[in-house]
Amino acid sequence: MRSNVGVRAGLLLVAAVFAALVGAPPGYAQQEPDWSKVQIKVTKVFGNIYMLEGQGGNIAASVGEDGIVIVDDQFAPLAEKIQTALKELKITDKPVRFVINTHYHGDHTGGNVPFASGGSTVIAQDNVRKRLEKGGAAGNGGSVKMDVKPAEKAALPIITFEHDVTVHLNGEDIRALHFPSGHTDGDSIIFFPKNNIVHMGDDFVRYGFPFIDVTSGGSVQGMIDAMEKATAQLPADVKVIPGHGQLSNLDDVRAFTKMLKETSAAVQKALSDKKTLEQMKAEKILAPWDKWSGQFINSDAFIETLYNSLTGHPGGFVKHN
Ligand SMILES: [Zn+2]
Repeated sequence: MRSNVGVRAGLLLVAAVFAALVGAPPGYAQQEPDWSKVQIKVTKVFGNIYMLEGQGGNIAASVGEDGIVIVDDQFAPLAEKIQTALKELKITDKPVRFVINTHYHGDHTGGNVPFASGGSTVIAQDNVRKRLEKGGAAGNGGSVKMDVKPAEKAALPIITFEHDVTVHLNGEDIRALHFPSGHTDGDSIIFFPKNNIVHMGDDFVRYGFPFIDVTSGGSVQGMIDAMEKATAQLPADVKVIPGHGQLSNLDDVRAFTKMLKETSAAVQKALSDKKTLEQMKAEKILAPWDKWSGQFINSDAFIETLYNSLTGHPGGFVKHN
């Protein structure tokens, strides 16, 4: 069991990293992490698949005779440490040939430039490239709101796909499948069928109530659909790498999905009762799910998320003429 201190530190880390990546929204004012202190922890998940944790989103790595494929790449200042950690496995001298981005957020794509300039090919869903290229805003349509700067050309995925793509490497058909409108509008879940492992990106996280980027086309209904469709096609004993947090299983995913369904039903009911957003917060309508309230997305921020998602208010920045 993890200590409370550990859980709290983890949540603060998510908030700090988020602040570092998208500028510091109110309440998350934190300094940029001291990259020199970040260590890359490598866990063998099964077979030739590893999970790498440093700062930012979890990385999955297929390491074998054909070379390396990684899913997500955290932040640019960590790219060298990630490369070193992969080399130290002493399985292959071959490089990271492909990087698959689960979605466009900087804590999952920040390493695209150093990996691409080191010879890796970055692959992602069409909307990941579009959002990286254009920049804009990310947020829950309410108090969580950040400016996203357009990424430099070298950060953009070279190969994009609309629905799915398969990378055939290391004897495995590594498949990225797009699930529309969950955490963002460009999320992919990555399947490693031979090793019975899946990387769910930020459609599934372990830091409590999830951040749903409704400003970038995310929605709670889409996230629920993604979880239900993905779990329906996965074996019961699949190992699940979440976007953030510890290695998980399908029971964890089901508990998360159940929470999403129950909390959105609670906000939907309040909407039918003609309650305002402020009333929902004042009445603490998500109190029964309080254990999911976190440092990053607390109950009030999640009420905003669900409210904006269910009423179709994506938020974003007001443009003045
Ligand atoms: Zn994200």
